[in-house]
Amino acid sequence: MAGMKYRYEEFTWPEIRAAVAANRVAVLPVGTVEQHGPHLPLVTDVLTATEMSRLAVEQDPSRAVLLPPVYYSFNEHHMDFPGTIAVAGETIIRYVTDIGVSLARHGFRKILLVNGHGSNVPFLDIAARNITNQTEAVCAMVSWWSLIPKPLFAELRESEKPGGMAHGCELETSVLLHLRPDLVQMSLAERDIGFAPTEFFYWDLETPAPVQFQEWFSRYSRTGTVGDPTKATAEKGAKFVAAVVDRLCALLVDFQAREIRPRVDHH
Ligand SMILES: [Zn+2]
Repeated sequence: MAGMKYRYEEFTWPEIRAAVAANRVAVLPVGTVEQHGPHLPLVTDVLTATEMSRLAVEQDPSRAVLLPPVYYSFNEHHMDFPGTIAVAGETIIRYVTDIGVSLARHGFRKILLVNGHGSNVPFLDIAARNITNQTEAVCAMVSWWSLIPKPLFAELRESEKPGGMAHGCELETSVLLHLRPDLVQMSLAERDIGFAPTEFFYWDLETPAPVQFQEWFSRYSRTGTVGDPTKATAEKGAKFVAAVVDRLCALLVDFQAREIRPRVDHH
């Protein structure tokens, strides 16, 4: 499969038709452009989702095609920090739905949204449901950090739990140190947990809080970071990325093979 084309925008239309006939999964990375503390770039969430998707699709391009990422998304709560581009929730739902509906109209039947931004979750969940409900395709959504096996967190994590892995944190900074070390300024990385975690209120990518809650970032983060990026290393990042890519490959195999049964009208 080496050398097989997989970047959607590089295909010709007959090649897209062939990719559809081969039942390849359409993979759409979705990030956001927003501040990630003083040490990480605005593009962090686009970069993580896109690179992990690319590494997974590249392993066996007969399984999937990789779409250009969605860069901008919902993140109004970060607007007190310079750089963030905030898109309304309704806009991102409709935008991603339109992309998925287009793919389905061309014949793609499996569409996978690979998410790199925590606050995308509710909007992409709705977009994925819209695409499934409005077309013959099925659309699923996965956030990359949710694919990390628990034992790997146990092995690598040094920051406090919960709280140490939330935003521009030990996890995201490690991944960036592996993928794009030239964009990380470790001398500026600073631990910033904001409010002390309570039983109900905290943010953590490994252990989601029982309460869904998001307030203005500047109310609880002084630096724009939530977590402890000083614990980040490129070695950890390499292991986290390898684990995510491994699970993404397995997910693509599973999803590609998944049967789409006919609906039954029981009226
Ligand atoms: Zn992020």
